Amino acid sequence: MKDNKKQHQVPFFSFSALFTEREKDYLRIFQDVASRGGFILQRDVDELEENIKKLLNVKHAIAVADGTNAILLGLRALEIGLGDEVILASHSFVAAAQSIHYTGATPVPVDLAEDFLIDPESVEKAITPRTKAIMPVHVNGRVCPMDDLKDIAQRHNLLLLEDAAQALGAKYKGQPSGTIGRFGTFSFYPSKMLGCFGDGGILVTNDDNLGRRVLLMRNHGADPDQNKKIVSWGTNCRLDNIQAAILNFKLKHFANDIARRRVIARQYHEAFHEIEDLNLPPAPDSDPDYFDVYQNYEIESGRRDELREFLAERGIGTIIQWGGVPIHQMAFLGFNQNLPKTDRFFERCLLLPMNHMLSDEDVNYICDTVHEFYRR
Ligand SMILES: *Cc1c(COP(=O)(O)O)cnc(C)c1O
Repeated sequence: MKDNKKQHQVPFFSFSALFTEREKDYLRIFQDVASRGGFILQRDVDELEENIKKLLNVKHAIAVADGTNAILLGLRALEIGLGDEVILASHSFVAAAQSIHYTGATPVPVDLAEDFLIDPESVEKAITPRTKAIMPVHVNGRVCPMDDLKDIAQRHNLLLLEDAAQALGAKYKGQPSGTIGRFGTFSFYPSKMLGCFGDGGILVTNDDNLGRRVLLMRNHGADPDQNKKIVSWGTNCRLDNIQAAILNFKLKHFANDIARRRVIARQYHEAFHEIEDLNLPPAPDSDPDYFDVYQNYEIESGRRDELREFLAERGIGTIIQWGGVPIHQMAFLGFNQNLPKTDRFFERCLLLPMNHMLSDEDVNYICDTVHEFYRR
């Protein structure tokens, strides 16, 4: 830097800010929960499940240990397992593929379309007699093209499941993400849309039978309506009660937090849409069918690595999602698909800082710095 003015710093995500943002409230919550010994499956978990049911207008919500296990329990409850195949996008977190693997089934990654989301054509090509389910992943807080996927699922008699870990609050044609398929799962990992102070997740469904099975499985098969009598096989996959208490508080601010992300997305869009080298996500409200929540703001740049370094030198943190490796490139996990669109995307993709805690100053600084890069 030329002058001795302190450089503006915008980390990609500040985990400590999640706490300091409303420190006094959180201290009060910790004290309240701990002093009443509310550690395991207490009223806060019940309240969280009620809150999520209301938010998403869905019949069942079962809080679990994390988003990965939410997928695993949902798949097992549907008896997906050995010999089955489940199709998902390669542009996704390996967690989804791993949950499929852990049921005994085979994850089948497919290519992405122009909108960076799972490509229905690629899905259709990957269907075999063993295919049991399609699990679109609503990457970055935008719901996948569910009508097309529903149509494919119906024609081939497949289950449609949603990994909505990144899309709590997003909607497609007015319908909340996670409630369109047979089940939907969310993650409360700290940097997700609604983050707790550790791990957390939830599964939602309108299927009574599925909801009950997951409820039993997450707590050793103990039936809460029969004085915890063991009525089935299960495991320990409970959400910590203290995390539920934090999430119930954070839900009060959730609509504002989403609105803030959308304001930032609009600002990025206005700042960057004329830069030819960049490919941007759709702007908020650019298509009435979609309500996007911008878990991430993922751009494509032909000069990605250079841009990333330029931003880093100026104190701006960026990330290449999934460590820069899409699922199908993980040959060591046995994948060998040829997905040219995903390969090309991963040479160009970059996540800019995106969360409700960014200030106007931060966002302006990021916009100015990207412009400075392209002016040189
Ligand atoms: C975060 C994430 C998960 C896993 O969630 P955890 O709570 O970390 O287990 C699964 N799928 C996607 C797309 C994610 O982004």
